[in-house]
Amino acid sequence: MTAGGHPAPATSPRARLFDAHCHLQAHCHLRKAAEVGVAALACNGCWQDDWARVAELCADGGGSSGGGGASSSGSSSGAALPTVVPNFGLHPWWVARRSPDWLERLRAALLAHPTAGLGECGLDRGPRCAAGYAEQLEAFEAQLMLAQELQRPVSVHCVRAYGAVHDALRRLALTVPVVLHSWTGAAEMTAVLAALRTPVYFSLSGHLLKQPPAKALPMVRAIPLDRLMIESDSPDGALDPPPAWLHALPQLSHLPGELRAAGLAQLNRPCVLRWTLQLVAAAAGRPEEEVACATWDNACRVFGCTPDGVGAAAKQLDSQG
Ligand SMILES: [Zn+2]
Repeated sequence: MTAGGHPAPATSPRARLFDAHCHLQAHCHLRKAAEVGVAALACNGCWQDDWARVAELCADGGGSSGGGGASSSGSSSGAALPTVVPNFGLHPWWVARRSPDWLERLRAALLAHPTAGLGECGLDRGPRCAAGYAEQLEAFEAQLMLAQELQRPVSVHCVRAYGAVHDALRRLALTVPVVLHSWTGAAEMTAVLAALRTPVYFSLSGHLLKQPPAKALPMVRAIPLDRLMIESDSPDGALDPPPAWLHALPQLSHLPGELRAAGLAQLNRPCVLRWTLQLVAAAAGRPEEEVACATWDNACRVFGCTPDGVGAAAKQLDSQG
């Protein structure tokens, strides 16, 4: 059973899910995520104090070196708790409040966690961002260069700055994987970014539903299957399909009722990912199993996950460096 007592949708043994971007707030959410098949998640820290919180969550159980192996206080269904991959970065909303030594502290956090990715960083030209664009760009590019130097994947937040993100990736000739989280760009921009030398991945969440289906559906179908990921972006990004989406994809008409029953209509959690998978598979016009397998494989590759646990690939890169 999931939160709210709703029966979990059936999951095949192969259908493990990877939440490619979230902001985990408590361990109880790990157990509920495991019950619907979430076997790994990338947890993002957005500012200096947040990095310590993310590191603590990983150390306390479900950390990347543990291979999902927190104590098996596990789930009632017996599933192991998900592996948690830490990510540390300076989000554009916190750029205005950064300390003078923020970049050195970020480097230290990444070096202390060889399995960690760099995230969340990015560019935001929306009204919620206090930092000016020039200082955002400076902080973003510094983090991209740090990720390249340390050979870490990057999780990118991008609001009204798709062209600028594209230009930065091209200018810096990044070769580490870049995950554009909660991607909502146009189909044309998706194709342009997918063609870069930088391996760019497109991670989809409930934010997709803020776009009209006429714009979003061609975009989802423009994402190459080997560059697709799914994420909860919890606690943001609740799935709440508006009528236009239910009209365009009537096979999703069960979603609002199930999400309400699971207590996920307003408050988002990583366990939403089973329903995010249904949304993305319907939008892509592909079977759920195919999308589950592809997104799992893609995220494992990017975040250094092996069948034995997360982090082996990252450690290998470090020892080569
Ligand atoms: Zn985020």
